[in-house]
Amino acid sequence: MASPKILIIGGGPAGLSAAQDITDAGGEAILVEQEGFLGGTPKRLHYSLLAPDLKPVEEVLDPLIDSVQQSGARCMTGAKVESVNSGRNGFTVTISGGGKKVEEKVDAVVVATGFAHWDPHKKYEYAYGVYPDVIDFKDFEKMLSDGNIVRPSNGQVPRRVAWLLCVGSRDRQVGKFYCCRLGCAVSIKQAMEVRRINPAIDTYVYYMDIRTYGFWEDKLYWKSMEEFGVKYIRGRIGSINRGEDGRLIAMAEDTILQRPSEVPLDMVVLATGMEASEGTRETAAMLGLELEEHGFVKPLESDSMPVSTAVPGVFVCGTATGPKAIPDSITEGSAAAIKALNYVRKRSIKVQARA
Ligand SMILES: Cc1cc2nc3c(=O)[nH]c(=O)nc-3n(C[C@H](O)[C@H](O)[C@H](O)COP(=O)(O)OP(=O)(O)OC[C@H]3O[C@@H](n4cnc5c(N)ncnc54)[C@H](O)[C@@H]3O)c2cc1C
Repeated sequence: MASPKILIIGGGPAGLSAAQDITDAGGEAILVEQEGFLGGTPKRLHYSLLAPDLKPVEEVLDPLIDSVQQSGARCMTGAKVESVNSGRNGFTVTISGGGKKVEEKVDAVVVATGFAHWDPHKKYEYAYGVYPDVIDFKDFEKMLSDGNIVRPSNGQVPRRVAWLLCVGSRDRQVGKFYCCRLGCAVSIKQAMEVRRINPAIDTYVYYMDIRTYGFWEDKLYWKSMEEFGVKYIRGRIGSINRGEDGRLIAMAEDTILQRPSEVPLDMVVLATGMEASEGTRETAAMLGLELEEHGFVKPLESDSMPVSTAVPGVFVCGTATGPKAIPDSITEGSAAAIKALNYVRKRSIKVQARA
């Protein structure tokens, strides 16, 4: 039997992991990534240290990228899949990139097209885009990775920074009913990074409840309070205004003290949620994949077959099916690789039996 040839769309943590396992098992992997580099959203948006162990993104993802590049996988960056036609013997795909178009025949497809950040402009009460010192997760990750924590309004080091959880998550008013799973953890790890860089900056996390599941509870939540002095306020900021001195004023209800609070702050970081990326929606439409009610790709069975889809020969992994962390995305990439390889092997046994 010829070695299985599998197309992977998306070169983030999930797609890289799928490519790695396909080539390790003797298959041929064609990895198509629309950006000019591999590593996905953490690389594109310059994330800083990663939860839960506060390791730099490079330390976590570069060994995987290097190993995929050396594995013999064909990595096509700056490229997109234009069309996919399925036939009796697999799929014919057209890939464009670098001003050229190539046609490939593949036996199976793995979709790893990832997520997008929710756009905080949609929640006008938080004044994103109005007051420069209201920023979002991705803005702050970039600031941390540049090692330059300053107020965008005046270039000064802030005295007080607050995180507002669940912006564009668990919010029926904006049509986002689900939890983004990472918002608590990422806010806490950003606050810990700030305290590590400059302990003179006070950090406050406004929360409804804290969802640092599993081992992330003691690695992040307790550690942040006990070792880093991060402070927590249970309550939701209703609106953000600007005082006469140019500082921000967060109007909130402290639900532990049961009274309204008005806290002057120098910067507010909006913990923006995750939604399906445009690439995920486009790819789903191209392959005829159904979306689930929140707009992500619907797995065949979310409980027992999370990386299979209703389209034979098409598998899905990582945040294309919903919010999740890097380790889970990498695990799903491996799972999708095995499912795709098994699909091709079983199909070829059937073809041989018929011959
Ligand atoms: C602010 C923030 C901080 C985070 N920090 C952490 C953390 O500290 N620890 C942690 O474990 N997780 C963290 N995460 C989660 C982490 O980013 C995701 O788990 C991870 O990026 C998911 O990997 P993925 O491969 O599924 O998707 P992505 O990383 O989004 O990669 C998808 C890739 O597919 C490509 N693509 C999309 N469409 C197409 C197309 N049509 N054709 C070709 N290519 C396409 C994209 O360009 C992208 O490179 C964080 C998330 C956020 C929002």
